[in-house]
Amino acid sequence: MKKVYIAQDPADAHFVAGILQEYGISCEVLGEDLWGARGALSVSPDTLPTVWIRDDDKFDEARKLVRKYENKTLNATTSDSPWKCPNCGEEMEAQYTDCWQCGTNRPAETQT
Ligand SMILES: [Zn+2]
Repeated sequence: MKKVYIAQDPADAHFVAGILQEYGISCEVLGEDLWGARGALSVSPDTLPTVWIRDDDKFDEARKLVRKYENKTLNATTSDSPWKCPNCGEEMEAQYTDCWQCGTNRPAETQT
């Protein structure tokens, strides 16, 4: 068992666990009981739900998936992130909708 993710809440934890399972990584969510009792406890990382994988060999793979998820979350909350022109490779600030260098439109979503 290895811990791959510390979630913000149980829904977050289960979402990550679902992603991992989709990729064939067996995992479980721990700490939900503490989450339920957190009103009575002082808030600390120990009271947050965590996601653990059963197969330690999958740790690197699992962390990669978690990192992707975390980045996506980051993009969702900040809504705008810098992007790279697919035509000329110029790095663009988030506020530009097309490349100031060659005029290529910002691609909708690069990751799938
Ligand atoms: Zn360009």
